[in-house]
Amino acid sequence: MNLPELIDKLHDEESCYKHLEKVRWPKGVHCLKCDSKSVSTVTRTLKHRHGTKTGETYQRRVYDCNKCRHQFSATAGTIFHDTHLPLRTWMLAIHRLAESKKGVSALQLQRELGLRSYRTAWYLCHRIREVLKQSKGPGLKGIIEADETYLKGKGIPKGEKPKRGRGSQRTTPVVGIKERGGEVRAKAVPNLQTDTILEFVKAVIAEKGIEAFHTDELPAYKKLASIPPHSAVKHSETYVMGDVHTNSVESFWSLLKRGIIGSYHRISAKHLQRYVDEYCWRSNNRENRDMFGLLLRMAARGRHIRYSEITGPGKHRKTGKA
Ligand SMILES: [Zn+2]
Repeated sequence: MNLPELIDKLHDEESCYKHLEKVRWPKGVHCLKCDSKSVSTVTRTLKHRHGTKTGETYQRRVYDCNKCRHQFSATAGTIFHDTHLPLRTWMLAIHRLAESKKGVSALQLQRELGLRSYRTAWYLCHRIREVLKQSKGPGLKGIIEADETYLKGKGIPKGEKPKRGRGSQRTTPVVGIKERGGEVRAKAVPNLQTDTILEFVKAVIAEKGIEAFHTDELPAYKKLASIPPHSAVKHSETYVMGDVHTNSVESFWSLLKRGIIGSYHRISAKHLQRYVDEYCWRSNNRENRDMFGLLLRMAARGRHIRYSEITGPGKHRKTGKA
């Protein structure tokens, strides 16, 4: 669905709820507790609590299971669970995040969607990002390229002096593995030591079907020689040696960096992986003609995440400290 179609079809709360129901239950509504298809509907009139004129009301269908009496609506248990925002705001935000190649910042969304606070926009973005987490999926195979980069992420642990260069706490190393002509997986890691890289590589590649492994000369990759055929490009001398190059994964880095610098400016190291996941998802689905539809289906199956879960104490990626 493109933007004019969305504005046309999902023009108010009721049309958004109906669309969400269709996406969530394409084969008909069934109870969230006992799976029974025998449900009655109750129509409730609700008032907007946020973002629209006071007093404006809309109707929403609530389902009542005839077997176990469980009551639920289309948003129950999804990323929209208990939201104070109009569903239409969600739809527009999902469209912006799915279709913007370089990403969209919370500040930009706050302005575009007329949200009251930056915090609301920020939380909205992160709840959508929650469903974009990289899935385990089938392992990568064929010609595999591996490369690493450093991304700026603010956050120097308390009590530590800022360091310069590659060891700086202002940057976080990220390892990327890409199947040539296929998908990319990337992960923010605490360091670029052999064991750290090896653990990630083993988690994302297929057990069989690796034709070649192309990397740069980072010593950590030497141990990879034990997995599949392995060729390293000497980046100090050349970037491409015939078919041996890491250009595909490098073009992913440039998109990621341009996006982060252009749209997000600075990201906290704690949340860096969420942004990396978002860019991986967009890159892996770039051929899909309906990114909005795809993301909405994922959101309708997605898990509700509380604000405190996102902001709560997380380990610093660089030091492992809370
Ligand atoms: Zn039931």
